[in-house]
Amino acid sequence: MQHLVDTDNFSDAQLVNIFNDAKEFKKNMPDKLLKDKLLVTLFFESSTRTRSSFEIAGKRLGASFVHLDPSKSSTSKGESLEDTFANLCAMEPDGVIIRHEYNNTPQKLANRELTTVINAGAGNYAHPTQALLDYFTMLEHFKTDSLEGKTIAIVGDIVSSRVASSGIRLFTRMGMNVILVAPKPFMPNKDLPKYEKLDEVIDRVDIIMSLRAQLERHKAPIFEDYREYAKEYCITKERIEDRDILILHPGPVMRNIDISDEILEDSRCKVLTQVKNGVFVRMAILKELLLNS
Ligand code: ASP
Repeated sequence: MQHLVDTDNFSDAQLVNIFNDAKEFKKNMPDKLLKDKLLVTLFFESSTRTRSSFEIAGKRLGASFVHLDPSKSSTSKGESLEDTFANLCAMEPDGVIIRHEYNNTPQKLANRELTTVINAGAGNYAHPTQALLDYFTMLEHFKTDSLEGKTIAIVGDIVSSRVASSGIRLFTRMGMNVILVAPKPFMPNKDLPKYEKLDEVIDRVDIIMSLRAQLERHKAPIFEDYREYAKEYCITKERIEDRDILILHPGPVMRNIDISDEILEDSRCKVLTQVKNGVFVRMAILKELLLNS
């Protein structure tokens, strides 16, 4: 039984398979490869893209879904998460897709070896399917099968971001140069080049990944006025000018704080392409986990 807690659960060969399948699925919708599979989604944090993307991906492959709303489940009556999970597994689903506020929840549940566990976002630690769809979007954009030597600047609330965390592990594994750009309170303690101003690195980046300030994870407000923060970190036309830089963001975008309205409309900004690709990449991931492993 294979789980997806973070992208290092996949071998290099599996990653190649996933990116090839996703590319193929984008060209031609495949058969209902997962028509006998049933998946449960268990989201303890809110989600727009990830949950619907998993469901659409699964359904495109013929899988069935059961969604458990934790606020209406027995965890809200005091049942432990482990017990809720074990009860769900007693009904023999083929996988549980889970999002949770704690970093170690997916691994803890995966260790039970009751069903395939798929991490749809855990704390500030990992969001593997987002990292994989971001990587796929970059491969597609640069029309290549390797991003070795490309430079990505991750800009914003990096310390709170599971997208950045999973992304950094995957992108460095793939030979990319990762630069972190953030004000001090948003900068993680990682052994990577760190800058406070985007302007200092703008001429050497191929990709900018902008991130939202994760207000819900801040114990106390970090900036009083995000318009001040935006003056330094918002991705605007004035800042990137006509440079050939790919702009990514995992969403939700805080307009004119993370990325300006104008850049969101710019052809260099691939936020909706990321969302579109997310379905194909998740189809490929579900196939890899449920059929190939
Ligand atoms: N949607 C992403 C996540 O779940 C990013 C975000 O919420 O800012 O981590």
